[in-house]
Amino acid sequence: MTPAERFLKNARNIATNPLIQESVEYTNIFTGISEGLFGVKFIGTFSSNVFPETLKFSDGYKCLIWDSAYWYIFSNIMKLYPLRQYEHIKSVAMYMKHQLKKVLFYFLSLKTENYPALSAEVSLAYRKLSDKTVKFNHKYLENNKNKINEATYFAKIFCLFHELNHIKNIEDKDDFNRKSKDLTKLFIGAEKLVQDTSFLDMLLGYYTKEAIDKAFKQIISSNNAELEEEIISDMCAFHDTISFFEQNYPTLSVEEIYSRVYEVLLFINSVNFMLIQICQQWNYHYKLCVKIIDVETHSKMMSELNNDTLLRFIITDILRRIETYELFKENEDILHTNFYGLRYGVGKRNSFVEDTVNSLTSANQFAEIYYDSSLYSREETKNALNVRDIMIGW
Ligand SMILES: [Zn+2]
Repeated sequence: MTPAERFLKNARNIATNPLIQESVEYTNIFTGISEGLFGVKFIGTFSSNVFPETLKFSDGYKCLIWDSAYWYIFSNIMKLYPLRQYEHIKSVAMYMKHQLKKVLFYFLSLKTENYPALSAEVSLAYRKLSDKTVKFNHKYLENNKNKINEATYFAKIFCLFHELNHIKNIEDKDDFNRKSKDLTKLFIGAEKLVQDTSFLDMLLGYYTKEAIDKAFKQIISSNNAELEEEIISDMCAFHDTISFFEQNYPTLSVEEIYSRVYEVLLFINSVNFMLIQICQQWNYHYKLCVKIIDVETHSKMMSELNNDTLLRFIITDILRRIETYELFKENEDILHTNFYGLRYGVGKRNSFVEDTVNSLTSANQFAEIYYDSSLYSREETKNALNVRDIMIGW
């Protein structure tokens, strides 16, 4: 057994019935990049950890755990985005909310498993939604199938490079320090550029002036090594993804590659932000509910929620925009194209997502789900997780 297999067996909950598996074709490509270019073992799984992770063991063994649970959730959300153009049709809007809620409950049932009774309750909510059919004409989805598959591929390549760059950053400290210095210069340059009216105008469709100023002030004054690491991995992965598609897709122009990668990255940002936000809110509600924290601490935690996550997303987005803007000054459209129909800035209102997320993260919804069931007692943790696994089809 490799150290990674031992780790997965002991520390992770793996689905016995994975809902999806990475295709052989993609697995070969990802293994080639991971093992061939970075010397990191590529391992596919479907676990309740959901997010991809990189591990380095004491004997030097390195691996990337590619969790298909994340891609299951991600692609189910992605599928819905191009439907926004039909949102004025009532059945489409109902379908979108229903599907989003369902996949978010699925996600929550996995991410709350440290609180087994809650996890089981959430899985029950997922089951109820799955058993309910919402009338909907699937022709709306079919039109976008190829684009969505392509965009998912772009997203996967970016995430792969992001994770691999984490390992590279740990291993080559000199290289990392160099990047860190470059990043500081970039921040200072960026802070000036966002004062430039034409560039700022472009950003204002996505963020407020206050959010931008605050983000730069915080990032320059803070000494947050973890955040800096994430931003560096994001930026390296952005460059690696662009080069990858330049080399492997000669039919696409550089402009097309930039605009597609750029659009997909905005989408990844908004999905990850949503997932992290939901996960943390339920965690805090739970802690309040079982009196690990008091009301005051709860509201303090809620108001500080996701400061770093949001900061990271705003900053990396602005840095990528600046780079793209400077390269293609003559062709600003690159920053505005909506090829996949996914475009959604972090700061922009998207009613179907916001309404669903708001309803799902409210303390009321939490309480309703947590207190309603009498399926089992809260002490029966093993039993509760078995129930969860049955409900979500593990
Ligand atoms: Zn990361």
